[in-house]
Amino acid sequence: MGRTIPILAYHKVDTEAPTRFWIRTDSFELQMALLRERGHETVSLEDLWLFANGAAGLPRKSVCITFDDGYENFFSRAFPILRKYGFKATVFLPTAFIGTDCRHSNEWDRSPEESFFRADHMLWTEVLQLQKYGMEFGAHTRTHADLVRLLMTDPEQAEAEIAVSKNDLEDRLTVKAKFFSYPYRSSNSCLEEMVRRAGFLGAVIMNNKAFDLSDGNWFQMDRIPVFSGVPGRSDKELRADFLALLGEKI
Ligand SMILES: [Zn+2]
Repeated sequence: MGRTIPILAYHKVDTEAPTRFWIRTDSFELQMALLRERGHETVSLEDLWLFANGAAGLPRKSVCITFDDGYENFFSRAFPILRKYGFKATVFLPTAFIGTDCRHSNEWDRSPEESFFRADHMLWTEVLQLQKYGMEFGAHTRTHADLVRLLMTDPEQAEAEIAVSKNDLEDRLTVKAKFFSYPYRSSNSCLEEMVRRAGFLGAVIMNNKAFDLSDGNWFQMDRIPVFSGVPGRSDKELRADFLALLGEKI
């Protein structure tokens, strides 16, 4: 086993956490403060790839922070905290949902518990602003397609969802989109091949373990999902929960 790096996966941040895919803003800040206190530095997925290919070094205590879906609350809630700590993150965008003139919401990620919360997506102008502050962007298909299912009924469409989302990002960002996130956490070897063919360097899944830079599959990069946890946990307990995710002692 080679060097492992925790790649954390978040979705939505707000004052309350109506489902486990949300995390409270204060809990997120507590986690970022803890990373700082413990001497962690945030690196991008590209930094990992460069290190694995012998092209760059990596800080001793490196961690990657990723967000799926490109919600507006990344821009308004998470980013100010990341900026305060000088941290960077990678955000995976379902490109058809990122707005030009107006904000879009979606149907695939709503539950009755969160009906009072807005979970609209970002605008391209916000994405560009974030890029200036060192945030990295990756693709998450165009329409948040269930690729495993689509592969069975319309493989050409599955491949287009992957390739066009890369083009959409590159048209807007003027840099290469290098990493991909499979929606609904599901992938298989056929999809991996499509992602590779589209020109990505790697793709992330969720697997509750740190990613092994030398032995891990770069088209199934393990990520550790960070869920909101049980309501009513004290700050001390939240710190212990987060350190356990990172595989660190209290
Ligand atoms: Zn998603």
